[in-house]
Amino acid sequence: GKYESVGLVVGVTGIVGNSLAEILPLHDTPGGPWKVYGVSRRPLCSWSPSPVPAFEHIQCDISDPDDTLEKLAPLTDVTHIFYVSWAARPTEAENCAVNSAMLRNVLSVVLPNAPNLQHVCLQTGRKHYFGAFEFLGKEIPEPPFTEDMARLNSPNFYYDLEDILFDELSKRDGAVSWSVHRPTTIFGFSPYSLMNIIGTLCVYAAICKHEGSLLRWPGSRITWEGFSDISDADLIAEHQIWASVDPYAKNEAFNCSNGDVFKWKQLWQILAEQFGVDYAGYEGEENRVKLEDVMKGKEGVWEEIVAKYDLVPTKLDEVAAWWFADVVLGVEIEHLDSMNKSKEHGFLGFRNTVASFNSWIDKMKAYKIVP
Ligand code: NAD
Repeated sequence: GKYESVGLVVGVTGIVGNSLAEILPLHDTPGGPWKVYGVSRRPLCSWSPSPVPAFEHIQCDISDPDDTLEKLAPLTDVTHIFYVSWAARPTEAENCAVNSAMLRNVLSVVLPNAPNLQHVCLQTGRKHYFGAFEFLGKEIPEPPFTEDMARLNSPNFYYDLEDILFDELSKRDGAVSWSVHRPTTIFGFSPYSLMNIIGTLCVYAAICKHEGSLLRWPGSRITWEGFSDISDADLIAEHQIWASVDPYAKNEAFNCSNGDVFKWKQLWQILAEQFGVDYAGYEGEENRVKLEDVMKGKEGVWEEIVAKYDLVPTKLDEVAAWWFADVVLGVEIEHLDSMNKSKEHGFLGFRNTVASFNSWIDKMKAYKIVP
């Protein structure tokens, strides 16, 4: 055929799905030329990569087995699956149930219908080592985290997803390889992402600017002063594409972070400069604020900002996940990972986190999601 590889990106409007949809169709992408199917629950938007001939959008609810069968069974030419999707529920027991069903629905339809399927990339994350949100940081191995560390004893939908992946692929007797990718907090671009720290912080800074208030640090002392690491969404996409085509990356789990460290106090100053606001750093435990509290009821303010600057229409709860920023910035432990395994297997990609932070903020502005 015209294409060397055919990728099915499940979660194409998400934070890494969006990067995959931009990078896979490029002419110099390894394994290419790629034809790309992009699945999401909602339609594409003004900010989605334009469906060029090499990118076909499929609107499908993968939590619905009938819809999944109807929409994905006809995709008989798929060679690679990039599973970058999830659904959030209040408890981890519910997360396990709904996310297991979603992955099972996709694999149980694509595996028997796509005879040329070669590889499945599954994206999970650092909560593999850190515990699900419900149990976060309760019993963790000593950082830096390495891929061979034992699973925690608490329920975690990431473990269930891995087990479903292995179970489904066993039905094809090793003919289809896999890789698991474990990023930490992701810097990327998707106003539809359930967890987007860049988007959330940009919206917070834009509201502070609009109201003439101080950009206050809503986190812990350790996260302000200590070393942190981040995963750039484009780097994660490159890591998944590498694992899809490189024989040395098959049937392994890999951490996936930028490969440098930074301090949030550096990025906080940059954020303030990007939006032209004054900022405050860590102010002591007794003065600690949560974005969920200080940003409560700002829906109307956000509407004003969207109208004033003629932004792409968005609702505040789509573009800002206050709870997520509070969790990420409020963590009380330095939790770096190790990228040695990826390097030893041949992946040498990296990002400069300060440059990454600036470039994703610039993209948020360029697409008129924030002023
Ligand atoms: P996201 O929230 O950015 O995007 C999710 C995508 O899945 C969207 O395209 C959405 O349309 C799609 N989707 C959700 N439910 C669907 C359904 N029922 N049918 C069809 N499509 C559906 O996703 P993400 O943040 O990239 O998350 C993927 C994985 O990465 C998750 O396991 C998450 O925990 C993990 N992770 C995320 C971050 C982060 O900072 N966002 C950090 C580390 C790990």
